Amino acid sequence: MTDQIVLNHVTKSFTTKELGTVVAVNDFNLTVKKGECFAFLGPSGCGKTTTLRMIAGFEDLTEGQIYLGDKLVSDSKKNIYIPPEKRELGMVFQAFAVWPHMNIFDNVAFPLKVKKVPKAEIKERVTKALHYTSLDGLEKTFPSDLSGGQQQRIALARAIVVNPDVMLLDEPLSNLDPHLRETMRFEIKRLQKEFGFTIIFVTHDQAEAMAISDRMLVMDMGNVQQIGTPSELYNKPINKFVHSFLGQSNFTKVVIKDGKAYAKGHMDQTIAVDGNVPEENGEMILATRPNTIDINRESGYKTRIIKRTFKTDFVEYLVAIGDDTVLIQTPHRNLFKSGEECYIRVHNPAWYPPEDEEAEKERERRNVV
Ligand code: ADP
Ligand code: MG
Repeated sequence: MTDQIVLNHVTKSFTTKELGTVVAVNDFNLTVKKGECFAFLGPSGCGKTTTLRMIAGFEDLTEGQIYLGDKLVSDSKKNIYIPPEKRELGMVFQAFAVWPHMNIFDNVAFPLKVKKVPKAEIKERVTKALHYTSLDGLEKTFPSDLSGGQQQRIALARAIVVNPDVMLLDEPLSNLDPHLRETMRFEIKRLQKEFGFTIIFVTHDQAEAMAISDRMLVMDMGNVQQIGTPSELYNKPINKFVHSFLGQSNFTKVVIKDGKAYAKGHMDQTIAVDGNVPEENGEMILATRPNTIDINRESGYKTRIIKRTFKTDFVEYLVAIGDDTVLIQTPHRNLFKSGEECYIRVHNPAWYPPEDEEAEKERERRNVV
């Protein structure tokens, strides 16, 4: 597969009175292949939109280069910036970017009119784009007469009408209700199959990122944390941040001593671990998922059920390990009562260094805008 989007050492700093200098995007390196659907996932303020805006050409670069196909479109050193309209991209942003005073046909035709495409061709391409986004027959309707989902389809139709090689989608479904979001996810994938464009899909919703993408990355405070397939990131997160951002996590403060793990402040009982325990003595974070802890009546770490909750497909228990609690999800057939004594074993946990409180403060600082 050929490379469609390449970012080399892309960095962007902003300086404002309120926040001082923020490195919104720091040394970002990425290669997205032609035809890939690639998701950017991360909390608000981590730099997703800024990265997308640099790819689109709305933002210059403090450092680095961007290639689209084999064309150099941004280069901080050579001061090369190809303007957005010459990058042949389709774009859809979070806020419904439709023009209220134009009917649907004119909304979708707009980018072609700007390019001075002949009238007959505009008609043909707009009709096709409306067809593929299930908006047939609504040419003369105004956006205000349509539902939120239909309005977002207008934005999609306007993006595909230019036959882009690349689609940049910035939280395109955030304003839709959950059911519609799921439908639109399928629509986007279907359109991608039909037209073969490459997608970058920005979201802060992990389920959405995992459902839609072939590969994805997780960002934190301007830094790419990890790049991989959804299952690689879920099953082998490289740090606590990525672990916490995908799926449900339990983090337990532990002390490692001579190859055994103890709840911090409770050296009387070892935690039963099936899997590796770090060799080095000292404090660590033990990371588990609710479905990787076994609960039984015979052996393991002895504790007690604090709370039991019936969920549709499983039972959830809240159980103490030292001063922390963990959530455990098990099938209905293995029932414990609240308050009952039990034993737990953790399977193949991940281990991370203790909390970084400075990082937490910095995350908050960035989340102001
Ligand atoms: P995300 O899309 O992940 O929520 P953004 O890319 O919008 O994050 O923002 C990343 C950081 O850059 C934030 O700290 C934000 O405050 C800052 N930022 C973004 N755009 C500007 C701007 N035009 N001026 C100053 N700071 C900005
Ligand atoms: Mg954003």
